[in-house]
Amino acid sequence: MTCRGSDNFGLAGIGALVLLLVVGCGAHAAQPNAPAASPTPRASASSVQHRPITTDLKTRRRVLLGYSVDHRRITAYEVGDPDSSRRVLVVGCIHGNERAGVAIARALTRVSPTQDVDLWIVPMLNPDGAAAGTRTNARGVDLNRNFPYQWRRNGSRGSLTYPGPRAGSEPETRLAIALMNKVRPSLAIWYHQALGVVDNSQGPRALERRYAADVQMSLRKLTDYPGSAVGQEDHRFGPTAFVVELPGGALSTAAVHRHEQAILDLAGHLPPG
Ligand SMILES: [Zn+2]
Repeated sequence: MTCRGSDNFGLAGIGALVLLLVVGCGAHAAQPNAPAASPTPRASASSVQHRPITTDLKTRRRVLLGYSVDHRRITAYEVGDPDSSRRVLVVGCIHGNERAGVAIARALTRVSPTQDVDLWIVPMLNPDGAAAGTRTNARGVDLNRNFPYQWRRNGSRGSLTYPGPRAGSEPETRLAIALMNKVRPSLAIWYHQALGVVDNSQGPRALERRYAADVQMSLRKLTDYPGSAVGQEDHRFGPTAFVVELPGGALSTAAVHRHEQAILDLAGHLPPG
C-alpha cells in the first residue's frame, strides 16, 4: 500500500503507530526509543512502578494517524487517563485557511489535566490545505463536506465546498472517521474561522452554552451542512460535537488560554461513566 493508504487504519493500527509515550504527569523525560505502547495502556504500569508518579496513571503520547493526499503526516495526541469515560476530541483545523484553532490544540497537548479525562487532540487534519493556504485539501475537496452522514453531490472540483466524488473519498476524512470510531468521543470540538461565534446547533447544547460563556463569545445557530464532521459525530454518537468559529486572524496568548481552559472546564462537566 502506498503512503496514501489510510484505509487499513484501525484499532490495531493506532497501537502500532505510537511514536512517543510518556507515563506520568509530564515531569518525566520522554522515551523516544521506547517500544510501541501496549494496546492496553495500563499494561505499561509495571515498568514505572518504582517511579514517584501520582496515583493516577496519565498518558501523554503522540500517534501517527496516517498521511494526507500529499504525504504529510496527520498526528493525534492523547493526554490524560486512557481509561477515562470522559473522552474529548479536539480538532484544530479542517479547513486549511482557518488555522487559528491549531494554537489551542497545540496548547492542549501540553496540559496536565487534573480531572478525569482522556483528551484526543488533532492539531491539523488538513496539512495540505494549510500549506497551500486553501480551504480544501490537495484534491480540491472540502473535507467538511466529505463525511458519510448525509453526504451529497454538490458542485464540482474548483468549488470551495466540493464534497468529493463520493463520501469518505479523501484520506484525511477516513483518518478522522477511524479516530472517531476508536475514541467514541463524549465531547468533540472542531475549530473553524472566522465568524467569531460558538455554534448553537444539534450538538450538546448545555456544553455549547458553557463554552461560549467561558470564552466570552456569543452563540449562534449555524447551518448543519451535509457531509460535515460534526454531523457525522452527532449521528454516530449522539449530540456530542460542535463547531467553534473563531474570529479572524491569530488568537492572542490570553485567548488561547481561555479556550484551553474552557475545554478542560467542559471535560470536567461531562457525566462520568
Ligand atoms: Zn471552516
